[in-house]
Amino acid sequence: MTQHKFGDGGCQCGKVRYRLSREPQTLYACHCSDCQKQSGRAFGTRIMHDSDETGQNVSIKAGSLDDTRESRPNAHIWLQSAQPWVSVDRSKYACFDTEPADRALNGKPATREPADG
Ligand SMILES: [Zn+2]
Repeated sequence: MTQHKFGDGGCQCGKVRYRLSREPQTLYACHCSDCQKQSGRAFGTRIMHDSDETGQNVSIKAGSLDDTRESRPNAHIWLQSAQPWVSVDRSKYACFDTEPADRALNGKPATREPADG
């Protein structure tokens, strides 16, 4: 199995382990109330990933990766429920008030070129 930069992850107690077998489609910073509650923070991070077994999209909490240094969000979603003190640079990220209809933007990274190039 090819090891990619995202590698392995698991739960806090270590009973559940996983390995991403494909490159993630994208990584969102999600401001929904579920992610806020689950992460205990202003937002969570969600890796959108294709499952080998079912071919369906699955969502993985980026914070559960063993190495989170490469997990930078490409887009901010559910901004309609973002904490009022959270400020997102809309020139650097694709931004959505809810969730994008295709969840992974048709497999394309949800990047937006900075205004200054
Ligand atoms: Zn969320």
